[in-house]
Amino acid sequence: MSSMKAPCSPEQRPVTALRGVGEALAERLRRLGVAQVQDLLFVLPLHYDDRTTLKKVRELSLGERVLVEGEVQLTQVVYRRRRQLESRIWDGSGFLTLRFFHFSGSQEKGLARGTRVRCFGEVRRGPSGFEMIHPEYRWVGRADEQVEDTLTPIYPLTEGLSQGKLRALIAEALRELDTAAVRDWIPAQVSESLDLPPLREALRYVHRPPREAQVEELAAGRHPAQRRLAFEELLAHQASLRLLKRAAKTDPAWPLDDSAAMAARLLAALPFPLTGAQARALAEVEADLRSSVPMVRLIQGDVGCGKTVVAAAAAARAVGSTAPDAPEERFQAALMAPTELLAEQHWRNLDQWFRPLGLDVALVTGSQPARTRRSALEAVANGDIRIIVGTHALFQEGIEFSRLALVIVDEQHRFGVQQRLRLREKGNKLGRFPHQLIMTATPIPRTLAMTAYADLDVSVIDELPPGRTPVRTVVVPQERRDEVVARVEQACRGQRQVYWVCPLIEESEELRSQAAEESAAALAEALPEVQVGLVHGRMPPAKKDAAMLAFKAGKIQLLVATTVIEVGVDVPNATLMVIENAERMGLAQLHQLRGRVGRGAEASTCVLLYRGPLSPLARQRLQVIRETSDGFEIARRDLELRGPGELLGTRQTGLAQLRVADLTRDADLLPRVQEAAELLIAQYPDNIAALAARWIGTAEQYGRVG
Ligand code: ADP
Ligand code: MG
Repeated sequence: MSSMKAPCSPEQRPVTALRGVGEALAERLRRLGVAQVQDLLFVLPLHYDDRTTLKKVRELSLGERVLVEGEVQLTQVVYRRRRQLESRIWDGSGFLTLRFFHFSGSQEKGLARGTRVRCFGEVRRGPSGFEMIHPEYRWVGRADEQVEDTLTPIYPLTEGLSQGKLRALIAEALRELDTAAVRDWIPAQVSESLDLPPLREALRYVHRPPREAQVEELAAGRHPAQRRLAFEELLAHQASLRLLKRAAKTDPAWPLDDSAAMAARLLAALPFPLTGAQARALAEVEADLRSSVPMVRLIQGDVGCGKTVVAAAAAARAVGSTAPDAPEERFQAALMAPTELLAEQHWRNLDQWFRPLGLDVALVTGSQPARTRRSALEAVANGDIRIIVGTHALFQEGIEFSRLALVIVDEQHRFGVQQRLRLREKGNKLGRFPHQLIMTATPIPRTLAMTAYADLDVSVIDELPPGRTPVRTVVVPQERRDEVVARVEQACRGQRQVYWVCPLIEESEELRSQAAEESAAALAEALPEVQVGLVHGRMPPAKKDAAMLAFKAGKIQLLVATTVIEVGVDVPNATLMVIENAERMGLAQLHQLRGRVGRGAEASTCVLLYRGPLSPLARQRLQVIRETSDGFEIARRDLELRGPGELLGTRQTGLAQLRVADLTRDADLLPRVQEAAELLIAQYPDNIAALAARWIGTAEQYGRVG
C-alpha cells in the first residue's frame, strides 16, 4: 500500500497561530477536538438561535427561544423556595418576567425601573405569565439598535470556553476560508454526482445561515450544506475503517486450538446452558480464533443478553491453547473495561468461572494499592497469571504480557475508531497480533452495523436468557412529578434503590452537572429520610466510582445522575428509574438507561417524565419505548421514526463518534459513501489520510497502517 502521510498543507497550522490563543486556551480547545485552525471550522453548531427579529410578548409561545425588548417596570428580590431576582418588563404588548437565581447587586441595580433591555432566552410559563430564566440580556437605547442579520450558531462548549470566545475564533477561521487553507479532498467525479454544495460554501452556510434559512431543515440536520459535511465525515470513517480492516487481515496471529478443552470445561460448569444466540456467536468467535488471521470481531447484543460469558469462553480457549513454537508456554487473555467498577464486576465473574478450573484471574486497576498492582503486573509479565482484567486506561499506560493472544474490550458505546486503532498497536509481540473481541450494547440494524463497524466482523446476540421480568415503563407528565417523588420515597422505604436521571442539556457538561446538583439538592430536601447520592460528568472518576460503589453497596438509596451513569453496572436491588425530560432523549439512550433496572428477581419500573406539549414524534418515541424492550426492535423503529425534525439525542449514541453525520438520519447517503470509499482506496489513498486527519484526527496511525 502506498505511503499514507497526510500531505503537508496550511491545514496543519496549529490553533495557537491565531492571535489570542495561548497554551491554556489551546488545551481547552483540544477537548473539543480542535488542534489545527481548520478544526475550528468543523466544530459545528448544535442549533441556531434566531436573533434576527424582535418578537412581541403577545406573540410568544411556550418553549421557543426568542429575542424580546422592553422597559423594566419592576425589579425585586423575592424568596420562592430560594432567593431570586425577578424583573418584569413591558414591551407595549405584554409583560415578561426575567428570573435569575444567581445574581449580583450591580445586576439588580442595572435592571432599575425604566431601563430598556433586550433579552434572549427560552419562553417558559411562570407563576405570573411568560418568563425567561437566566436570559442573556443587554441594555439598549431608545432608538432601536440593529438586530443580527444571520442566525446565531450555538456551539458545543467545554469548561472555560464561552460561546462568545468560540464564536470569535470560528469567525477568524472562517475568514481564512477565502485563502486556500481548507482543501476539498473529495474527488470531483464524486462531488459532481452528489448534487451537494462544495465544501467552502457548505462550511460558510452552517456557521452563518442567512436570515431566511430554512430553520426546520437546519434543526433537522437535513440542509444540503449539512449533508455535504455529513457525507465527507462518513466517507472519512468508511474509507479509513476499510483500510484498517484490510491491513489487520494481513497480520499474522496465533491459531488457538484449545488443546486443554478449557472452553468446554468452563461451559460445562456454568449453572445455565447458553442461549441459542450465545452459542451461535461463540461458534463464530471460535472459528476466528482457530485461524492464523487475527480475529477483529464485534459482538453486538442488548443489555443483559449475556455477552460476558461468551467472552469468558473465548478467553478460556486462548488460555487452553498451546504455543506451537514453545509447547510449555501458554497464552494469555486480557479483558478491558471502561471503568474500574466494571472491571471489578468482570473480575468477580471471571474469577468465579475460572477458579474451579484451576486458573487465577488478575485484576489491575489504578485505585488498588501500588503493591498489589505491582505483584499482579509481575505475575502477568512472567506468565504466571494468564487471565487479566483491567481498565482501558491501564492498558494504555502499558502493561507487559508474556504471551497475549486475545484482547477483549467491553465497551458499551464509547469505543470509537480512535480506540480501536490504539488497541491494534498493543500486544504486537514476536511478530504476532492478538485476536480482538469487542462487545457493545448498542444494538443497531445490520445495514448500519456494516457502516459503523466497517473494520470489524460482527456477531449478534439477539435473544435474552429466559426468565427475565420485563421492566414496566410508564410515561408521566412533569406536572405529576410530586407523585413520582412519592413513589421514590415508597421504593426507598421498601429497601429498594432508585436511579434518577437528570435532563439532557446539550450545551455543556458544566450545565448538565449543575442541573444534576440542583436536582439532587431538591430531592434530598423533599426526601429527608433517603440517602441521596450524585454522579455527574464533571466529577473526578474516583469520586464517580465511589458514588457508584456506595450505591451498589446499598449505602445510597437514591442515585441522581446525568446520563453518564455507567452502562453495564449491575445493581439488582435498583427497581425504579426516573428519567426527567425523557421527551428530549433518543430511543437508543432511553433503552440503555432503562437497562440499569430489571436486573433482579423483583419487578422493576421505569418512569419517563416528560414536559409537554409533546411533538408528534416525541409522542411516538415514548410510545415505542413503553411498548418495546427489545433493543434491535427499538433500533429499527428509531430508524423509521427519525425523519427530519429532531436532532437532540441522536449523536449521544456515540456510534463511531460522529460529529455531523448521523448514521440513522443520513442512512440514505450510505450507498454512495460506500462507493466513494472504494474509489478513494483504489485511486486516491492519500486523500484518505487527509480526510482522516480532518475528521478523526489520527492521520499518523493510518500512516503506519500502510
Ligand atoms: P451483558 O450482555 O449486558 O454484558 P451479562 O454478560 O452481564 O450481560 O449477563 C447478564 C446476566 O445474565 C448475568 O448475570 C449472567 O450470568 C446471566 N446469563 C448469561 N447468560 C445466561 C444464560 N444463557 N442463561 C441464564 N443466565 C445467563
Ligand atoms: Mg456487560
